[in-house]
Amino acid sequence: MTSIAFIGLGNMGGPMAANLVKAGHKVTGFDLVEASRAQAKADGVTVAATAVDAVKGAEVIITMLPAGKHVVSVWSEVIPAAAKGALMIDCSTIDVESARKAHGLAAAQSLPSVDAPVSGGTGGAKGATLTFMAGGAASAFASAKPILEAMGKKIVHCGDAGAGQAAKICNNMILGISMIGVSEAFVLAEKLGLSHQALFDVASTSSGQCWSLTTYCPVPGPVPTSPANNEYKPGFAAALMLKDLKLSQEAAKAAGAQTPLGAHAESIYETFDKDGQGGVDFSGIVNHLRKLAK
Ligand code: NAD
Repeated sequence: MTSIAFIGLGNMGGPMAANLVKAGHKVTGFDLVEASRAQAKADGVTVAATAVDAVKGAEVIITMLPAGKHVVSVWSEVIPAAAKGALMIDCSTIDVESARKAHGLAAAQSLPSVDAPVSGGTGGAKGATLTFMAGGAASAFASAKPILEAMGKKIVHCGDAGAGQAAKICNNMILGISMIGVSEAFVLAEKLGLSHQALFDVASTSSGQCWSLTTYCPVPGPVPTSPANNEYKPGFAAALMLKDLKLSQEAAKAAGAQTPLGAHAESIYETFDKDGQGGVDFSGIVNHLRKLAK
């Protein structure tokens, strides 16, 4: 049993903390929102009055927060109150620069740290089947791995500080582009009089095969578990896809990489979001593309 502090008990952090409790760890949590604190309490998390109170005496401190500014702010607040040698883990999806800044805050107090963003969505968080992409020193990763295993099924060490975030935004840039590609193919098929099922049956076993098609098919029917069959309820909201595409484009700019399709995907999701669709699952982009058709 490890004593763990968990800050940020939202859609992802709440079920992740609950899985740590189920694995037999002693979890103390904090969130700004009362409803999240109440759910965490019902899941067996001891709720603290502040983030600083939550980390006192903890051997491991985990954050699952919206963006880089929240992570840097919470880490700045809690690190001075952390126990000697406490392991800092951030599981949020944030920009590489903020991730490296957070590692620097931990290092200044001689605390080991890991950036460990996740893939797998709220279903993966609930089912403890997340994939973790970790960045940080090998020794910090070795300490984090058994803790992360209680919340996920695949834990990958991607490299030094920030490498987990780099892997996450590169993966999600592929995802955003591929979802638009698959959706465009379905919209074209409709215009050509080809049924959704016929396109699916061919492409899912041909060179067009990809996760956006076979696991998360953007039209209802071929994959019954995809959000298209559930009125495009997220799942993974379009606003979060837009956030990750923006992170990829900021990183590309800073690193001098050319990612023209990533940039175009960002602008398509930006229009979708401005159209009031940010809360819709990101596979709902197919309806946006259909509307563009004459
Ligand atoms: P969420 O908004 O549901 O949860 C974030 C929580 O952080 C909220 O409950 C909020 O109250 C809390 N919070 C914010 N500032 C805080 C502070 N100073 N102290 C304590 N609590 C604070 O978001 P989420 O869907 O759980 O996503 C969390 C992170 O995981 C994001 O970075 C997101 O990009 C990433 N992510 C989300 C998904 C998904 O499908 N939802 C998938 C992969 C990664």
